[in-house]
Amino acid sequence: MAILTKEDVYNKIISQEKPQCPHCGVTMVIWECPPASFADGLGWGTPFLYVCFNDDCSLYVNGWKSIMDNYARHASYRCICDPTSQSGVMDCMTVFGTEGGTGSIVDEEFRAEEKAREETREKGLKQLEGLFGDGDADAILKALVADDTLPEVACRAAELMGKIGTLDAIEPIRNKAFQDNAVREKAETAIEAIHERNYTRECPFCAEIIKARAVVCKHCGKNLG
Ligand SMILES: [Zn+2]
Ligand SMILES: [Zn+2]
Repeated sequence: MAILTKEDVYNKIISQEKPQCPHCGVTMVIWECPPASFADGLGWGTPFLYVCFNDDCSLYVNGWKSIMDNYARHASYRCICDPTSQSGVMDCMTVFGTEGGTGSIVDEEFRAEEKAREETREKGLKQLEGLFGDGDADAILKALVADDTLPEVACRAAELMGKIGTLDAIEPIRNKAFQDNAVREKAETAIEAIHERNYTRECPFCAEIIKARAVVCKHCGKNLG
């Protein structure tokens, strides 16, 4: 058997199909193993591994509690697979945080996606500042509620809506089911800020917008005292 260099191994790996994580179904990425001593003396036996770096992966999500309960350490697991073995057996490695190990991802496809995402993010943020400068609240609202807006961009859009959004913006923001927690919180804060600027609030009974100081809702007639 010929001895393979690290580069040979990498070239072989990128030519084969990447496996999907058995815990979450997300395609795993190629990861360069750090020196063996780094990981509790574990010898990797391969210069690269496939790793699932999905932060919603059940193995990773549940790992925090499991390790804390068993070892009283703040760490979790990432699903791994040796790309040089024919068996395709899945294993796991310990990581110490969201970024743990991500610096060693050498997957070209993954890196390209990350770079594209970063560019989209910067472009989106720059556009928002331009719209804010123009006082274009409608366009900022559109960016906030669009399905393809990145969470970081949507967060900024929500902040800006809090500054210049009008009462008309409240309903579309309320009607949007934000998937991202941070965006959802920012959107909620934006609605509060809009109300504050307009001295309004929403009726707890019919959800119509009323004066903050109203005693009786002018829409449903309910007593608010
Ligand atoms: Zn996974
Ligand atoms: Zn009402």
